Amino acid sequence: MSFLLSNKGKIKISDYAFERMSNFRQNNSEDTEAGGVLLGRFIVNSKDIVIDDVSIPMIGDKRSRYSFVRNAKSHQRIIDNQWFKSNGTCNYLGEWHTHPESYPDYSGVDIDNWKDRLKKDSYSSRYLYFIILGIIKLEIWEGDRRTLKFKKLEKI
Ligand SMILES: [Zn+2]
Repeated sequence: MSFLLSNKGKIKISDYAFERMSNFRQNNSEDTEAGGVLLGRFIVNSKDIVIDDVSIPMIGDKRSRYSFVRNAKSHQRIIDNQWFKSNGTCNYLGEWHTHPESYPDYSGVDIDNWKDRLKKDSYSSRYLYFIILGIIKLEIWEGDRRTLKFKKLEKI
């Protein structure tokens, strides 16, 4: 599935990445939130981005029905490994997490965390991307490091 970026390029979520996230949809009332980082490529000679892979919950993450805090070190290790294995073409692009609601929207805690990611993480472009996977729908926001604003992207 693809979404329109603010620069008119598109961001594609690979089937593989989508399935890995979908396994953690909170379909049951006891399911806790899940999440991880987004990994992918900037397509040469275009404005397009592909999310090829995601990390999934690991030991050390803090998971509850209404919150997910990833263990920074273990997910960072995955980012570093993929970056080395791909000769620097596989990049950290942002984060994903689930919500126990059909049509997800971000919370105040999410916004605070996303702003922290924009300010503190190391990444090469102006933007990071933030996915929330609801029970029915997936939404993605583009976070701008210059304005610290978030724009929900339109599915195309
Ligand atoms: Zn959330």
